[in-house]
Amino acid sequence: MATQGKQITVDILMETVKEYISHPQNLELIEKAIAYATEKHAGQMRKSGEPYINHLLSVAHILATLRVGPSTIAAGLLHDVCEDCGISKEELTKAFDAEIATIVESVTKIGNIKFTDEKEYMAVNHRKIFIAMAKDIRVILVKLVDRLHNMRTLQYQPEEKQRKISAETLDVYAPIAHRLGISEIKNELEDLSFYYLHREQYYEVARLVEVRKAERDNQVNRMIQEISEMLSEHNITHRIFGRSKHLYSIYKKMTTKQKRFDEILDLLAIRIICEEEVNCYEILGYIHAKYRPIPGRLKDYIAMPKMNMYQSLHTTIVADEGNIFEVQIRTENMDSIAERGIAAHWHYKEGGKYSQEKEQREIENKLSWFKDFSALTGDVNDDAQEYMEVLQKDIFEANVYVMSPKGRVIDLPNGSTPIDFAYRIHTEVGHATIGAIVNGVLVPINTKLKTGDVVMIRTTKQPSGPSEDWLKFVKTSHARNKIKGFLQKKELEDRQDFIKKGQSMFIEELKKRNLDEKEIVGSKRLESVFKEFNVKNEDDFYYAISVKSLTLHAIMEKLTDTRKSLLDTINLSKLFNKPPQKKTISKSGIRIAGVETMMVSLAGCCTPVYGDEIIGYITKGQGVKVHRKDCPNIINETKRLIHVEWDSEFETGKYEVQLFIMANDRNFLLTDLVTIVSQCKAGLNAVNSTVNDDKVTATTTMKIVVEDFDHLKLVIANLRKVNGVIDVDRVTL
Ligand code: MN
Repeated sequence: MATQGKQITVDILMETVKEYISHPQNLELIEKAIAYATEKHAGQMRKSGEPYINHLLSVAHILATLRVGPSTIAAGLLHDVCEDCGISKEELTKAFDAEIATIVESVTKIGNIKFTDEKEYMAVNHRKIFIAMAKDIRVILVKLVDRLHNMRTLQYQPEEKQRKISAETLDVYAPIAHRLGISEIKNELEDLSFYYLHREQYYEVARLVEVRKAERDNQVNRMIQEISEMLSEHNITHRIFGRSKHLYSIYKKMTTKQKRFDEILDLLAIRIICEEEVNCYEILGYIHAKYRPIPGRLKDYIAMPKMNMYQSLHTTIVADEGNIFEVQIRTENMDSIAERGIAAHWHYKEGGKYSQEKEQREIENKLSWFKDFSALTGDVNDDAQEYMEVLQKDIFEANVYVMSPKGRVIDLPNGSTPIDFAYRIHTEVGHATIGAIVNGVLVPINTKLKTGDVVMIRTTKQPSGPSEDWLKFVKTSHARNKIKGFLQKKELEDRQDFIKKGQSMFIEELKKRNLDEKEIVGSKRLESVFKEFNVKNEDDFYYAISVKSLTLHAIMEKLTDTRKSLLDTINLSKLFNKPPQKKTISKSGIRIAGVETMMVSLAGCCTPVYGDEIIGYITKGQGVKVHRKDCPNIINETKRLIHVEWDSEFETGKYEVQLFIMANDRNFLLTDLVTIVSQCKAGLNAVNSTVNDDKVTATTTMKIVVEDFDHLKLVIANLRKVNGVIDVDRVTL
């Protein structure tokens, strides 16, 4: 395969440039770039043994054939000086200007993305990243042309590298060329990749084409002559020629559409180029009058251009001998767009000033009519949709793509910070973050990242963990959840410390007053003190002591005050005529003072958990059902109630509770709710979520499993913090 054309010299390049650039200032700029690149790359060789400058002259030459502006040609010549000669952006700005330096910098950045090393990303993401990183269409052009020339000279690379580069070209570069409508480059990139990736098949397809070539050429030439004569008779100026499919497209049709080679090549193709748009329809009329058109094959891409701005008339006709021809009719201008795509749209015009914003707005405008059109007809194929998405979303808004120092690409929502980046790398990295270096500069950790930023996270070996302030600026819910999880855990641990401290303070105080610890701790007497102070249990009690929301003095006063009522309680238990420590134990961990062997179970309606205030209800034949004291099913009950208590010795640590959650509906609401449940280490037995009739709120019910009442409180408190949540409640059936 002829992969290398003639060597481009400075003279050849300048000759091509002068076909459309004549302003001395512009020519000087290009000559200066040639001299600069020659000097900086002096002594460097390509794998082929040629001087490196040859690559740069070739790239610039291809760019000139695409009729790009002088700055872009200069950038093409300079595109490797940062990477290979260690020239900084600043130096380049001084030597040339900021515009050229920025293009070169972006080209260099894209070159450093490791597309094929990153398995988690698919080809489509690579293309998005590529385009989003480039931002400027000129960067994409330089990079595409650079790759094209590298593909043309790939024979000098080792085989493994040939395959790797070809795969990347097929996955990333060729589709981008296609999207931009540059079919010349796309076809060549595909055929070159095809050659290196599937050499046997490549030769096979090439052989098949060759075998049929003479016969086909014959048929096509006869048809061309017939049509050309007819058009001349009608005084229509035109060019007409046959065209052949490129090898990779034939191969692709044979493999993906399961077609035989014959079926693909049976379609003979002719293209007619005319001057004006009206001529296209005129020509179509004459052709349909003379030959039989195949119904349903007429496509008017002039009235309705393709998404990559392609315009042409397509029809398929049957010639007299029965041969089938596909005929494409278009103007010179349309043809140039078909071959060179978006590049053809801003053919450099001398005297005009290039404005990146203006160009991009123009593409947007050119594409937006298509959007309107597709919205009207609802007739959008996937390809078109994807095209719109890539160009409009990723170039103009959407995500930011940043890189680790090793070139790993991380995509993050717009507005993300180094903290979001750190948590995406690893949770532990996030927790240990103490600073961030973006593009070599130390920045605040709430800095908003931009596409193309190289982000390095500074961590510490003894992390104190995330700060609550981080929640104010992190953008990803991933980072948010990890930070919240950490803080909750920390809070819990801190609380345990406080409880321990409060407990020893309390016991110390008892000793001071010569009170018996054993008699008081865990007693009814103390429990009634809890009630007086409105604390639910021992832990809360000790915690309150520790943080001094309860004073020991006040507690001791109450302890002595309640002595009397305590006696009453003891007397009550004596009514059962049995010592209170003798208790009935069931698997539910409930004790009923003075009652032996009674069947006890937890009520299903209000699903009490260990630590809830409870009461027993004596059923007919099913023993005692334990309800929460506020359960509506027993609240009006006066008889059949019996005092019950939780038995800490037999606490099961597994209580199923139903929760009812009311929230403003949003994306990922359910995910966030479930995440919280699992972060609080609660079990999840069932979950169900429905959007309410108002279409704004959603109701979620969950069956979760908790250890005790405190645990349940923790879960509920955290569910209430979830963005959008209006209320969380326990369900009583
Ligand atoms: Mn290069």
